[in-house]
Amino acid sequence: MERISAPRGTQDILPPDSNLWTQLEETIRHNGERFVYGEIRTPIFEHSELFARGVGQDTDIVSKEMYTLIDRGGRSLTLRPEGTACVARAFLQQNLANLRGLPQKLFYIGPMFRYERPQAGRYRQHHQFGFEVFGDPQPEMDAEIIAIAISIFRALGIRQFEVDLNSIGCRECRPVFLAALKKELAPHLMELCTDCQRRYQQNPIRMLDCKKETCQQMLDQAPHPVDFLCLQCQTHFIRMQKCLSALGFSFRLSPRLVRGLDYYTRTVFEIVSPELGAQNALCGGGRYDDLIEILGGPPTPGVGFAGGMERAMLILQENQAPEPLRLDVYLVPLGEEAYSQAMLLAMRLREAGIRTELSYDRRGLSAQLKVANRKHARFALLLGEQELKEGSLLLRNMESGEQRTISKSEVLQSISSVLAV
Ligand SMILES: [Zn+2]
Ligand SMILES: [Zn+2]
Repeated sequence: MERISAPRGTQDILPPDSNLWTQLEETIRHNGERFVYGEIRTPIFEHSELFARGVGQDTDIVSKEMYTLIDRGGRSLTLRPEGTACVARAFLQQNLANLRGLPQKLFYIGPMFRYERPQAGRYRQHHQFGFEVFGDPQPEMDAEIIAIAISIFRALGIRQFEVDLNSIGCRECRPVFLAALKKELAPHLMELCTDCQRRYQQNPIRMLDCKKETCQQMLDQAPHPVDFLCLQCQTHFIRMQKCLSALGFSFRLSPRLVRGLDYYTRTVFEIVSPELGAQNALCGGGRYDDLIEILGGPPTPGVGFAGGMERAMLILQENQAPEPLRLDVYLVPLGEEAYSQAMLLAMRLREAGIRTELSYDRRGLSAQLKVANRKHARFALLLGEQELKEGSLLLRNMESGEQRTISKSEVLQSISSVLAV
């Protein structure tokens, strides 16, 4: 039979690496706890329209990268490509603003799906974590979001950070900027790439983050959102920078930074680390004061960030080796009579928190001890005919080879005390 392999762009996470993944998730959850954010788990698929409206029809994600399927009921469903639109949908649907009050502070961890060309470090099923706040318009909250991200990456062992920062304005001042941008570029339209020519018509702000060099040169010279901020947006941006300085975070203004999603307003940022070389981006985010309205809710400010967990894993892997599975007791019944007692005993040991594996291997003692060795068991616990008769067990220290008989009634106590050493 032909073997079936996993789809392109997916990966199997095996032990002991899966332990590092757990550790990464715990680091994120610990920070959620410390900053007092609650974990939200939304479905892995949503109605396709959520992303068309919430992320933006003209974004790369929605136009090229979504896993969309029609289910048996004829509904268009999409495997979630990012988390913010899902969390915002849940925030609205579950009526969190009214039932629990504002601001709502939430975080998520989980798989996301994008139909990307597989290349090093890019997966079609990848994992993201993100923090979102709904209902707080203050610039200090933008800074808190950045502080959470930096706390997490510090805990993973990163020491140096640079925050790339920009403000892309609000619905009052952005149209003024866009008009100026279009006016400036109108005579040079044919010199832009075809993507930018399309964006010029449909979503001109996205031209700013074009990766093509000729476009970049032209857009460096063109007007930037920061030059057109209204008074409120300016004040917000300046107060936010003050907070970052107070926190001791170094930042640089990046006038062409817009991020690939449509829902951002005012603050957009990326956190990079000079320790990481070319692929140095750790996470990105910003404010999305219009998103809840776009999804049919009342005006509700929002701010958040998301980070890729595969990238975070690379950092974690550089700083520590994964811990292998540990085995305290390898329990070896010798002879058919011993099995039923051994099963019950193994159960009791595990319930007492002792990492116990029971051998169902019918081979002789020396073969079994070899297995115990290979598994790096700290102790082998032997239950043979003799021991069965006497109500005892033989406890063997696998490192020293030292053996002693312990009584069955005291087995938990004896093993706990030797393990504690
Ligand atoms: Zn504004
Ligand atoms: Zn371009």
